[in-house]
Amino acid sequence: MPQLFNRSFQPYISQAEINSAVQRIATAIDHDYQGKNPLLIGVLNGAFIFAADLCKAINLEVEITFVQLKSYDGTSSSGLVQSLIGLKEDIKGRDVIIIEDIVDTGNTLNHFIPTLTDQGAHSVKIASLLFKPEALQHKLSVNYVGFEIPNAFVVGYGLDYNGLGRNWNGIYQLADKDV
Ligand code: IMP
Repeated sequence: MPQLFNRSFQPYISQAEINSAVQRIATAIDHDYQGKNPLLIGVLNGAFIFAADLCKAINLEVEITFVQLKSYDGTSSSGLVQSLIGLKEDIKGRDVIIIEDIVDTGNTLNHFIPTLTDQGAHSVKIASLLFKPEALQHKLSVNYVGFEIPNAFVVGYGLDYNGLGRNWNGIYQLADKDV
């Protein structure tokens, strides 16, 4: 079983299952945004792989940019959201799709979405590879979801445990329970 910092992780969602979810979300976005040019905003660091795969699977003329928001410390959400890299694009009148690796408490997006509407975005939707509905603490709709998962810590495919595990293929779940 692979380990990070002496914690064991077990295979949870395979790369093949992720690929199908990415394709399913891209097809839905192609359908919903016909004739439009949405701006994808990937949230670094966790969403970098999902954002890359998703934008390649979309057939529309899309733009992609990134912000870096930090709300996490170790294996539990801190509730604090810091903007480390901000948005440089003018988003007035744009159809924005936020690309997240995971929506957990929802703190990050609850902080970020009002900043996009304040800047005049025409519409804001969320695409997240993973969603932990039991952990959600805010009124948010995640419009495109790869997988709903229980409230357990996961790594791989961009998601990390204290900086490591982002390069693992597929998603792994913490196997020991004492977090
Ligand atoms: P939220 O603000 O609580 O919704 O958390 C969003 C961010 O926390 C995600 O973009 C991830 O970077 C991180 N995060 C939440 N749950 C996990 C997890 O299970 N593993 C790794 N990172 C996570």
